[in-house]
Amino acid sequence: MRPKTTHTSRPRIAVVGAGFAGLTAARELGRQFSVTVLDRSPWFEWLPNIHELLSGVKRSGDLRLPHRALVARSGHRFVQSTVTAIDAGAGRLVTSGGRSIGFDACIVAVGGVHDTFGVPGADRHAMSFKCVDDCDAIGRRLAQLAARPGRLSVVIVGVIYGTLGLLVQKAAIGHLVGLAFNVAASTFAPIFLMGVWWRGMTEKGALWGMVVGLLSSCYMIFFVSTLPVWMQWRIPGLVTVPLAFLTVYIVSKIDGQVPADVNAFMRQIHSPDVPKA
Ligand SMILES: Cc1cc2nc3c(=O)[nH]c(=O)nc-3n(C[C@H](O)[C@H](O)[C@H](O)COP(=O)(O)OP(=O)(O)OC[C@H]3O[C@@H](n4cnc5c(N)ncnc54)[C@H](O)[C@@H]3O)c2cc1C
Repeated sequence: MRPKTTHTSRPRIAVVGAGFAGLTAARELGRQFSVTVLDRSPWFEWLPNIHELLSGVKRSGDLRLPHRALVARSGHRFVQSTVTAIDAGAGRLVTSGGRSIGFDACIVAVGGVHDTFGVPGADRHAMSFKCVDDCDAIGRRLAQLAARPGRLSVVIVGVIYGTLGLLVQKAAIGHLVGLAFNVAASTFAPIFLMGVWWRGMTEKGALWGMVVGLLSSCYMIFFVSTLPVWMQWRIPGLVTVPLAFLTVYIVSKIDGQVPADVNAFMRQIHSPDVPKA
């Protein structure tokens, strides 16, 4: 909302919502403004890590910081209250406690809400995964269900990365990223490099190189325990990348079906400025 009035004193800015957006906005506003930040909750919650509450890596307190202290750090005033009405024309907002606060500009940063998109029964049976309290509630419910005899069935809807995060919580992320690069390098590095620098590569050679690179690197990662100890490499690409190069070379040699336009193609990628013959 744009300022309605100007004052001789500092312009009054109201920031409604002290999540990532509201707090960032407040931090950017210098002391030339009189800033009031309002939020219904006393806590700022670090949402990207709330799945760690369920995996037991973190506790609620680890992911909560007091709004008042965060806002004070920027030199502003914090009011813990739910904003129930904003009158932009009059430059006033009202809180659930009936308090009226005037502003010259108002930043509304109240975030999003959990939506079940009208799916029948979802509101009644599904649990939202949006804040620390939600995760605590899910944890309690899972503990209740686990205490009951019989099999436990849980359906997780629409949470691919969250679910993966729960599963690999205790794995070293750096190592996982490294392994992903191993797979990518084993699959694509040979065909990229040989495609650019070797005229003898054939279509079958490239295809087999990718297949062997992909499968061998995945095997060395996912079935590492089935391999002899001397083959249990922490960096499987040291084996699988050369293996993929070798496969491209051997299959291309056996195949021999080099594309007829390979020379024109090489000329084009190595000397793009030279006009075509
Ligand atoms: C489980 C989970 C994991 C996520 N992981 C990532 C990630 O890895 N990377 C990423 O970039 N993003 C991630 N996000 C998304 C990210 O957290 C949101 O995009 C971000 O929180 C949005 O910030 P916001 O300030 O707009 O809203 P919010 O963080 O929702 O803040 C809104 C604030 O407004 C307050 N409020 C609402 N209504 C009122 C009212 N009427 N009066 C007073 N106060 C009010 C609320 O209490 C809240 O504090 C994740 C979200 C979730 C739920």
